[in-house]
Amino acid sequence: MPTHGPKRLPYDAHVHTTNSDGHNPLASCVRAAEAVGLSCVAITDHYWGGEPLAEWVKAIAQADAASPVTVVPGVEAVISDASGRVSIDREQGQLVRWVLADFGARTEGIGINPPATIEGFLHNVETAMCGAARNPVVDAIAHPFNLGRFPARANPEDLPRDLLVRVADTMAANGCSYEIMNQAFWWHPDLSVVEYVAQIVPVLHVFADAGVNFVVGSDAHSCGAVGNLGFCKRLMDAAGLGMEHLIDLQELNDRRRREQARGQRLA
Ligand SMILES: [Zn+2]
Repeated sequence: MPTHGPKRLPYDAHVHTTNSDGHNPLASCVRAAEAVGLSCVAITDHYWGGEPLAEWVKAIAQADAASPVTVVPGVEAVISDASGRVSIDREQGQLVRWVLADFGARTEGIGINPPATIEGFLHNVETAMCGAARNPVVDAIAHPFNLGRFPARANPEDLPRDLLVRVADTMAANGCSYEIMNQAFWWHPDLSVVEYVAQIVPVLHVFADAGVNFVVGSDAHSCGAVGNLGFCKRLMDAAGLGMEHLIDLQELNDRRRREQARGQRLA
């Protein structure tokens, strides 16, 4: 295995707590982040739409103040349909500093009610990802192309290169990052881990070549998984990606904290 990748990944950009479907409360997850040596952790509970975030963001700020780890207030929003509409609006988006968006079982035209043809399905995937990437509220697509468990399915090798290039160009142009997710293989039960790695590496190359930034996340749903980035590291090594390809989550958090203080976040 190549050894040119980063030795240690400094942050985890994707963690769930009992505020959504995680098994452990915020304090336990932050403590776990400290224990495994992270300098920064983003709390990204699911956001289905309409939930007020102010009180939760306050709780995250308190956890941040009490910990040596930087705790970033975030959400994991869902891409609602093939237009790329997302479940969080600008008003709530201003309150957090990190917004993931993903395909889920509720994504109309992708997770449910897909078109009858693979061409129609892939067209929806493209328009949904490009639409979400153009939304200034969205910072990153979580586990992109997680398409192996819905009624209509696609593995990475089923994705046409020209589609990948168009999505990558749109993400690069809009500063939308690509999440390398530690359990990305889970979404493709038809593939062995080795097969998944072999199929996703060319996809990562398209996005890197387009200048898209990457971000690493565990998608932990328990405190024991916080900072578990071993598979992220494996994918980065396999794709030849280094720290220079990752966004600096700490810097982004600090910048947005200043923007929020001046009332300029998403202004
Ligand atoms: Zn998640």
